[in-house]
Amino acid sequence: MIECRDLHKYYGDYHALRGIDLTIREGEFFSLLGPSGCGKTTLLRTIAGFEGISSGVVLIDDKDMARVPANKRPTNMVFQSYAIFPHLSVAENVAFGLRRDPRPRAEKDAAVEEALKMVGLTGYGKRRAHALSGGQRQRVALARALILKPKVLLLDEPLSALDRKMREQMQVELIKLQRQVGITFVLVTHDQEEALVMSDRIAVMFEGQIAQLDEPESLYSRPVDRRVADFIGVMNFLPATILSEGEGVIHVDVEGLGEIEIPESRVARHDEPGAPPMIGFRPEAVSIFPEGQPQTAPRQNGGVIDEVVYYGDMTYYDVRIDEEDGTKSEPVRISMRNVFGRDIPDVGTRASIGWSPASLILF
Ligand code: ATP
Repeated sequence: MIECRDLHKYYGDYHALRGIDLTIREGEFFSLLGPSGCGKTTLLRTIAGFEGISSGVVLIDDKDMARVPANKRPTNMVFQSYAIFPHLSVAENVAFGLRRDPRPRAEKDAAVEEALKMVGLTGYGKRRAHALSGGQRQRVALARALILKPKVLLLDEPLSALDRKMREQMQVELIKLQRQVGITFVLVTHDQEEALVMSDRIAVMFEGQIAQLDEPESLYSRPVDRRVADFIGVMNFLPATILSEGEGVIHVDVEGLGEIEIPESRVARHDEPGAPPMIGFRPEAVSIFPEGQPQTAPRQNGGVIDEVVYYGDMTYYDVRIDEEDGTKSEPVRISMRNVFGRDIPDVGTRASIGWSPASLILF
């Protein structure tokens, strides 16, 4: 549906997009995810045609967009700031996109009603836009974009102004809406959780480049390098020394954990050359038990609980693992689902951590 080939964008001397290669499939919910300033909005705006490119190609539906202005592209954009007219009614706001449409009034009214229904605002047509909540305004902006029946809907941080509860609700509604209308959605977000929840595939960007393009589960469980691992969720890192390599396994000595064999399939291959080896694992990949309590994990180490962060359904424990020489590792973060009626271990108490070599990644 959308293809970017070796896309570059300069703002004066500043190289904002540095060779973007990207294919977005028809009907896909695709996200551009990255920290502030990585170029995700710039990329979205070049697809929309609001921003020219310095070199490279943007194709939409196999058509080169080089000479196609924004208003002639089969795309429509929804902005973070909603951009709706507060003095107009909801229906007038939605109908705004149809102002040059030659169809008779009754047909346009029906289209407005249909668009309002799609976003769950049936019956809101006569309300004034200024009297709507943030979530309702965002729905109006969506309806106004959808009424034009674009092939691609571009969404620039559309939910970032909403409170947490509303944002989570709108995330689910947007997924449903996208499935229902079947339009390709391209979302810009800096919120990794939002990208994981909503997307079929995600491009993670840093400094004007795509670091990894993958499905959410692959990004989370198989990040290509430390930057991606660190940006998506929490990843613990422990220094490792490579002892030997061969026959599909790498033998490493990991601070705190000891000697382990890592299968080659668990090696992240794209890290910076010369970077010291590290073992990474997610907080939920290991488990923590008060010392002495039996557990079933294949490997166990001891440690001391440094910090306890209670979240209701689960708790984060920062644990310093015992080293062979009697010292302790840097704290690693372990998450455990809370079990009703079971005590939560205190700061300063000893615990054993259980883990499996299969849950580790070698960076
Ligand atoms: P954010 O989430 O903060 O919006 P982003 O990843 O969307 O970040 P962009 O808005 O694409 O980042 O900006 C990428 C870089 O390009 C930034 O360093 C920004 O300062 C710069 N930039 C963006 N627009 C312009 C412009 N019109 N002129 C000069 N520099 C710009």
